[in-house]
Amino acid sequence: MEKDATIYVAGHRGLVGSAIVRNLKAKGYHNLICKTHAELDLTDNQKVGQFFKEHSIDYVFLAAAKVGGIMANSLYPAQFIQENLMIETNVIDWSYKTGVKKLLFLGSTCIYPKFAEQPIKESELLNGKLEPTNEAYAMAKITGIKMCEAYNKQYGTNYISVMPTNLYGPNDNYDYQTSHVLPALIRKFYDAKFNHEPYVTVWGTGTPKREFLHSDDLADACIFLMNNYNGEEIVNIGVGKELTIRELAEKIKKLMGYEGDIHFDSSKPDGTPRKIVDVTKLHNLGWIDHISLDEGLEKTYQDFLNSSLSGAG
Ligand code: GDP
Repeated sequence: MEKDATIYVAGHRGLVGSAIVRNLKAKGYHNLICKTHAELDLTDNQKVGQFFKEHSIDYVFLAAAKVGGIMANSLYPAQFIQENLMIETNVIDWSYKTGVKKLLFLGSTCIYPKFAEQPIKESELLNGKLEPTNEAYAMAKITGIKMCEAYNKQYGTNYISVMPTNLYGPNDNYDYQTSHVLPALIRKFYDAKFNHEPYVTVWGTGTPKREFLHSDDLADACIFLMNNYNGEEIVNIGVGKELTIRELAEKIKKLMGYEGDIHFDSSKPDGTPRKIVDVTKLHNLGWIDHISLDEGLEKTYQDFLNSSLSGAG
């Protein structure tokens, strides 16, 4: 990307999009276009078309999506599939119609089969049945990947897709019901500590394993790939390390200095038993993560405190 290129970051207020904007600015890209949901409804084809025609956009980071944790995905599958399909169709198609040079599509590791061989290689895509708790979301994301591939094939575009592992960082969702596990546990332990509650309830059995990537690392990888990768195949973005939900809960408990107990509520779903990505391809391309989980957790806790204190949390 040229430093003065016009870059549109779709979803700039979210965990991923906000990290991409911070990273682009830090690297000297100054011609960024960002629109809030209120300014531009990405599910509205006509408005998206108008927006793309009005700006001469060179590069697109497609980080806008309806996202949520295991409970949100189970409760609202229709919205997850419908909104995400609309956003992807509109942004990808109008990027093509208005001559965008390159687009990076943010997928997710939940696109891989529930029982994919671990660590999950990119070639596992469509090799088996999906995890039922987030099938609707995963189907929309798989469609986004296939849409990029189809446009590349038929129209000769250069659209790449990346699959980040579980993410965390500033501007995350800390809501009890709809968040992902890491921000949910930060909120739960924080509330328990300050309300002097005797225990914290963690969903599931605590045995599933997850890998966590800080959003600043993800953003750095996305910009690296936008500049250095033109391949057809999807690319995993992760750290190649995992821990159990119990270990994560214990880490967060210690970080906060909470002295109560941890209870596991096995009536809540565990989701997929293990989800760690193979990052060989990314490493071979020349990118490696920088932020350790301990460092990232501390930074995230500070961000959480700042946003809680400012009333935004
Ligand atoms: P997933 O990685 O797509 O399954 O999404 P999540 O981040 O929502 O959940 C990861 C794992 O953490 C699952 O096994 C959940 O049951 C477990 N978990 C434990 N406590 C919580 C919680 O308070 N919120 C969420 N979202 N997950 C939790």
